[in-house]
Amino acid sequence: MRAACALVMLLFCLDAFAVDASDRYRSPRNPERKIRPSTDLIVLHTTEAPAKSSLEKLSERGECHFCVTEDGTIYRIVDRDKEAFHAGRSMWNGKEDIDKYSIGIECVGYHDKEMSLIQLYAIRDLVKDLKAMYRLTDDKVVTHSQVAYGAPNKWQKKKHRGRKRCGMLFAMPSVRRILELKTRMAADPDVRARRLVVGDPYLEKVLYGKTDTLRAAYANVRVPKASAPTVASQPKPRAQAGGGIMDWFKKPSAASVPPPSPPQQQPSAQRPRASFKAIPRTIAELKAQGYTLRGKVTPGCTASQIAGARWNRADTYYTIRNKVIPGNTINPAKIEVDMGIWMK
Ligand SMILES: [Zn+2]
Repeated sequence: MRAACALVMLLFCLDAFAVDASDRYRSPRNPERKIRPSTDLIVLHTTEAPAKSSLEKLSERGECHFCVTEDGTIYRIVDRDKEAFHAGRSMWNGKEDIDKYSIGIECVGYHDKEMSLIQLYAIRDLVKDLKAMYRLTDDKVVTHSQVAYGAPNKWQKKKHRGRKRCGMLFAMPSVRRILELKTRMAADPDVRARRLVVGDPYLEKVLYGKTDTLRAAYANVRVPKASAPTVASQPKPRAQAGGGIMDWFKKPSAASVPPPSPPQQQPSAQRPRASFKAIPRTIAELKAQGYTLRGKVTPGCTASQIAGARWNRADTYYTIRNKVIPGNTINPAKIEVDMGIWMK
């Protein structure tokens, strides 16, 4: 009995997410949903409606795994390993019914409108965790509009891509830069294989061409240059999904796994511990351990701007009202003005 308890505790610990998520809108559909056979894609959606009504509907119908609101709060809706009904009529690389092969994240907002940085940072962190968990590369993070397709109808005689533009902004290079996604799919494998025709030429230009209507909106946002690609250190041989990938920081290459980053950029969990010093709990202890105040968060200066790629590492600390919070436990939605950031 005790062993069983220990096992349950262990599983619970292994299951722990680095990001905070709320269960307030957990779907009542969970018990009836099947476990998903595999996870090949992370599909990003836009709700096209305000938060409250979106959350209520998504929860009631079990239509996504997570929902991220404008203030960066992440809500768990359907359990991560179960099927959520988010993609509808869908196809990717010849496989239909993408709900069986994907995680669905709804983001409160509109498919072509700017989102706040706090919301994008929350999406980035959630996606980072899921990519690591399911060992997915950046190009496997797609938009709903990329996988949805339409049946023949009176306007479009053939099966076609472009049934909807849901999540379209997440294919734009300016937005992917903030999400720290270095690649995207370079072409539509189902159009290329003539399983589908292009039903929305504008959408195609956004998904695979150079159309990026939010470039100016995010032009001045600084993004940590060398953030650690979460899955890069454990490359796994896998067949490349049709479409290939595109990397706008480098010339296109055939590799679907980003190059391994130098050891100092590995996520803290993968780095050997340098020492076994107690976690500092006061500013005096921080100072005693050699940490110095690197700056304070202000409306014009974000944590990422102060700490760069180290903003969420275990050896970066946030202080506010005499509280000391390690960077690897901080909820980005709760990073507030006046927080001090301490590093070595
Ligand atoms: Zn959608």
